[in-house]
Amino acid sequence: MEDNYNEENNYNENEYNEENNYDNQKKGFWGEKIDQKKEELKRKAVIKVLTILGPIGILIVLILLPILFVAALLGAGDMAQDILGYNGSYNGVSSDSYWWPIGSNETETAGGKLFASGDPALKIENISSPFSASRTLGGVTKPHYGIDIAGLGQVGVFNVIASKDGVVYAVNKSCSDQGGLSNNCGGQLGNYVIIKHSDGSYTKYGHMASGSVTVSQNETVKQGQVIGKVGNSGRSTGAHLHFQLEIGGLGSSYAVDPMTYFENGNYRPIGGASSSIIEMLHSWEGSGPQDDNYYYVYDDGYGTLTVGYGVTLKNHASRFETRGVDVSRLSDGSPVSKAIVDDIEAEILTEMRNGIVQMLDNNDIDLLDYQIDALLMRRYNVGNVNSFPQNYKLYGDTQELYDNYMKNPVKSNGKYSTGLVRRREAEWNLFHNGIYQLN
Ligand SMILES: [Zn+2]
Repeated sequence: MEDNYNEENNYNENEYNEENNYDNQKKGFWGEKIDQKKEELKRKAVIKVLTILGPIGILIVLILLPILFVAALLGAGDMAQDILGYNGSYNGVSSDSYWWPIGSNETETAGGKLFASGDPALKIENISSPFSASRTLGGVTKPHYGIDIAGLGQVGVFNVIASKDGVVYAVNKSCSDQGGLSNNCGGQLGNYVIIKHSDGSYTKYGHMASGSVTVSQNETVKQGQVIGKVGNSGRSTGAHLHFQLEIGGLGSSYAVDPMTYFENGNYRPIGGASSSIIEMLHSWEGSGPQDDNYYYVYDDGYGTLTVGYGVTLKNHASRFETRGVDVSRLSDGSPVSKAIVDDIEAEILTEMRNGIVQMLDNNDIDLLDYQIDALLMRRYNVGNVNSFPQNYKLYGDTQELYDNYMKNPVKSNGKYSTGLVRRREAEWNLFHNGIYQLN
């Protein structure tokens, strides 16, 4: 165990050097030191209050206890709701967001469903027609309510995947592969699938290949699940997928540009971390001073200027610069727009999560969403999860994994820390039980 911990520490140092964006993670970004300082401040505050108030204080405490108890119950209720509201999804990021609708050519089965959620075989550069208010096609000018992703002239080859968890709202499987400008089969969409999502949004997938649609009406589908293949059915002049996203209701008046949700190089959504893990991390780490619009720069107690939920200025200077903030002009107490800091935090989270997903892919390890979140939580606090694959291959999701890997490290600067023990337990509780435990 001690070896494991030491090895982990060595990895930290290496990784910090390799990934200089994330250097100094422990100290700055959601670090243990802030914890210690906070605990110390809390202790001092409690002693002060008890000294001043004495017996009156005890009376007040007796009155307050039932109120606090009720508040705690309400808090627990919120958390339970959060856990229940979390759908989880296959091998990747939050099911809160939309995925690029083309999957990899390689598929695998999980839970009786076929998935192709790896690196997509058709990408953003394959968009042949964007979302548009007025597109002219065959002499007819009208809005294009979705994006067309070209199928490289191939019918029935590329996997179309569910962009998000949902239920199949409507399906048409009746069209041939003979598209054309005057082909109105399937209301021009050819072989299509419409999926209704739990947030009231809809995704539509059109012109799929004859015989390729694998789902039926009212069937539950998971994000990344193969629902058909790119084809040339309906009003279509070549193999392509028409992908349409409607937010707030069903119908083209609700259509939005799907490209708001995708970015090149990351076909899983922008902002990769689920709201559940962000809430958990924020709860565990706490933030510096803030009001409605601003976070205020603070010293983490060790001379490191930090903002929001532990985003260190120096380590992320280039991210701030990209967003027009020169960190050299900031000092203790300077306001920084919440939108900017939150955006930077999301970017860091996404990069870290993508790194973890890549590592798992490289090791042929399939994990559930919340298990990846648990590794993300650990990644923040420990600095890396490089020893995870070898340990997972040895022990799987068992108590042995906890005993031999997940429960370490518990020392900070060589000193045993109950705070770190609690963090390791929280990470395990999430990994093993799927519980997003708030601090
Ligand atoms: Zn289209």
